[in-house]
Amino acid sequence: MATTFDPREHPHRRLNPLTREWVLVSPHRTQRPWQGQVEKVARAELPSYDPTCYLCPGNSRAGGHRNPNYTSTFVFENDFAALKPDVPDARADEAGILVAEGERGQCRVLCFSPDHSLTLARMDVPSIIPVVEMWAEQYKELGALDYVSAVQIFENRGEMMGASNPHPHGQVWASRSLPNELSKEDSAQLAYAQERGGCLLCDYLALELRDGARVVCENELFAALVPYWAAWPFETMIVGRRHAGSIDGLDSQERAALADILKRVTTRYDNLFETSFPYTMGFHQRPTDGRERPHFHFHAHFYPPLLRSATVRKFMVGFELLGTPQRDITAESAAERLRALSEKHYLED
Ligand SMILES: [Zn+2]
Ligand SMILES: [Zn+2]
Ligand SMILES: [Zn+2]
Repeated sequence: MATTFDPREHPHRRLNPLTREWVLVSPHRTQRPWQGQVEKVARAELPSYDPTCYLCPGNSRAGGHRNPNYTSTFVFENDFAALKPDVPDARADEAGILVAEGERGQCRVLCFSPDHSLTLARMDVPSIIPVVEMWAEQYKELGALDYVSAVQIFENRGEMMGASNPHPHGQVWASRSLPNELSKEDSAQLAYAQERGGCLLCDYLALELRDGARVVCENELFAALVPYWAAWPFETMIVGRRHAGSIDGLDSQERAALADILKRVTTRYDNLFETSFPYTMGFHQRPTDGRERPHFHFHAHFYPPLLRSATVRKFMVGFELLGTPQRDITAESAAERLRALSEKHYLED
């Protein structure tokens, strides 16, 4: 073959060093710049208070519980928890093939605001800071439980992601075992530290900031970027400039800076297709099983499903389900589009 490799044209695969898995990139399928029209979705104006919402202040929930008249954030045990604290430490093993383990844990619901109509993108930074504080408290409190090894904080935003209630809220699941993704990322960061003697994400962030092609926005303490190995079209990561293993290890300036960059990323997302952008967002933090893990670098992932408009989504099917995730637009062109957007929300005029 005579031609030189051009990652903007030739199909190639990229390594995700956090999971040590590959992603297939097929940029030749989207040679032309995007010219299609953006289908807009009629926006349903939400009220600030919805008497039928089980997350609004003062309303009742399942099992006869009633929410207090909270004015900032509010946490409660999930009334339909996937994990429970009182499960026996049992293990079943048949020929090393049929293997099961009892799994203990807790699931909580985290309300970001009493205002039913808001989202992180439409909250102001001073009111996102208490949300960051709440996340830090939950990580600390649940991580301190002797049987909890991992605290997974996340937000599912939008009906497309299965979030049935638009009220701004997230979840925290604390578990006895390490979830798959956290386990892979912990192992890869440890292996990198052992092989190279540094932090994978500190080194990665330095590369990205030098290159700039995948950086979406940044402040003094955090950067948001489309990872080199992104699988979802507009996937991003938020990485701190200082090495910290968990959200409770952030100082007050860093917490404010995290609130700022979350606001900016979610606003850009909403502006991309002029819709309330759906996503799963969550943090990967140092496991809390008591082992030292100096190699672990706290970060956030955004996994949004949208591809071309407010209604056209990407599906992980076919080759992706059976083989390897695949994308057409490159991480660089996705970052370029997100970078070009305003940080003023499209609804604020
Ligand atoms: Zn509500
Ligand atoms: Zn680091
Ligand atoms: Zn991660």
